[in-house]
Order: sequence, then structure tokens, then C-alpha cells
Amino acid sequence: MNLEKRICLVSGGNRGIGFETCHHLAQLGHIVILTARNLTKGKIAAKQLREKKGIDIIFYQMDVSNQDSIDDAYDKIIQRFGRLDVLVNNAAILYDTWQTVIDTDFEIVNQALGTNLLGPWRISKKFIPIMKKNRYGRIVNVSSSVGSLHFMGKGAPAYSISKTALNALTRKLAAELLGTGILVNSIDPGWVATDMGGRGERPVEEGVKGIVWASTLPDDGPTGGFFFEGKPVEW
Ligand code: NAP
Repeated sequence: MNLEKRICLVSGGNRGIGFETCHHLAQLGHIVILTARNLTKGKIAAKQLREKKGIDIIFYQMDVSNQDSIDDAYDKIIQRFGRLDVLVNNAAILYDTWQTVIDTDFEIVNQALGTNLLGPWRISKKFIPIMKKNRYGRIVNVSSSVGSLHFMGKGAPAYSISKTALNALTRKLAAELLGTGILVNSIDPGWVATDMGGRGERPVEEGVKGIVWASTLPDDGPTGGFFFEGKPVEW
């Protein structure tokens, strides 16, 4: 087994940062499992990447807000590869700029937490035992500067608080997994031009660099950190 060729799963891989992360990791020679909640969108995205030369992409459907869907994807991955090395928790929803914390619709909060926090939590919980067994894992939680308590301002309450909670999940996981070979970090991709980010400040190819960095950290790399472009940022 070539240990440098990693098995990598990316959630929400059908567009935006997730899609480009799949592209970059596959270009580095890793086996990439692009997952998406929508079967058609996922198949099209994987086909698009496969058409690029020398790229190894597998597609499995996975809705991060649905435990059965996570269980199905897990079974398929374990049956095919027997392991998972890299988990990129990228899928997220609801940049709720239209509401404030005072007039919050709790249904929106519920949905945001269900996908942006519980999604990564459920998937991590599912895959950590196999990572532990192999004494290797990289878990990358795609977070945001708006989740930083240090820089916390008004607006987008459901989304921001879901990312703060995701950062807390990073710290908890990293602490519990210390010494197991599994490194867990939160990454801020910056303001990136995607459907969610709108015109953005940086192209998606730039935005994914920190995510790819955290996905491919050496064994003595950091864990339990929050990074932008490979440099620590305030929680
Ligand atoms: P995007 O263009 O809106 O893409 C979001 C992806 O998540 C889509 O593939 C979407 O699938 C998927 N998704 C949503 N709910 C899902 C679910 N339940 N199960 C599986 N997949 C699901 O967003 P993006 O800009 O690429 O953002 C990617 C990550 O970066 C997110 O975590 C986001 O919070 C973070 N981020 C983005 C920016 C930015 O400026 N863009 C800044 C900071 C952080 P569908 O196509 O089916 O909807």
C-alpha cells in the first residue's frame, strides 16, 4: 500500500470550495471521494473532474444532515477501501445575512446547526474509529472568520454561531484525539467567490489552499488550531 496516496472524503463536493478541494487533492495524486447530497449534481461534478487528466475521483451520495445517508456512504467506503485517511467537512448552508440575533427565526438556526455543526460531528464520529485503528487521520473543518469570537460582530447569527460551534468541535476532537495520529483543525478559507460567497475577494483556487494544506499535514503538524493560509488566526 502506498501510504502517501491518501483516501480523502470531501462533503459538499459538487460545487464551490468543495469541488475545488476535490480537484486539488486529486491533482496531488490522492484518491478523492467527492460526496454530495444530490445524486445528479454529484455525478456531474465527479464526471467533470474525471475528464481532467490523471485524476482519481469516486462519487458517493451523502447528505451530511442525515445519519442514514452518512452510514450508507461509510459502508461503501469501508467496503471499497477499508479505510479513510482525510475527512474534509466542507458542506454548509445558510449565510443568513437577512436576520439579526434579536429577530432570529429558530427554524433557520436549527437547519444551520443541523448541517454546519452536527453534520461534521456525525461524520467525524462515524469515521474516527477506523482512523484510530490505522493511527492516521486528518480532519479539516471548513470554518469562517465570522465564527471567530475574537472578531464576532453583528449579523448572520445562525451561520456565525454554527461556525463558532464548529470551532469548538475542532478543539474537543483534537483534545480527545491527541496522540492517536489524527490531526483536527479548523480552516478559514477567506472570502471566496462561490455561490455562497458571491463575488468574493479571492478565487476558489486560492480559497482551497489552506484546506489542502490542513488535509496533507505531516505527522508532526498542528492539531486543534484555527488557520488562514496555514497561519494561526484568533478563535
Ligand atoms: P456553496 O457554494 O454554497 O457550496 C456549499 C456546498 O455544500 C454545496 O455543494 C451544497 O450542496 C453542499 N451542502 C449543503 N448542505 C448539504 C448537506 N446537507 N449535505 C451535503 N452537502 C450539502 O459554499 P462554498 O462557498 O463553497 O462554501 C464551502 C465551505 O466554505 C462552507 O463550509 C462555508 O461555510 C465555508 N466558507 C465559505 C466562504 C466563502 O466566502 N465562500 C467563506 C468562509 C467559509 P447543494 O449543491 O446540494 O446545495
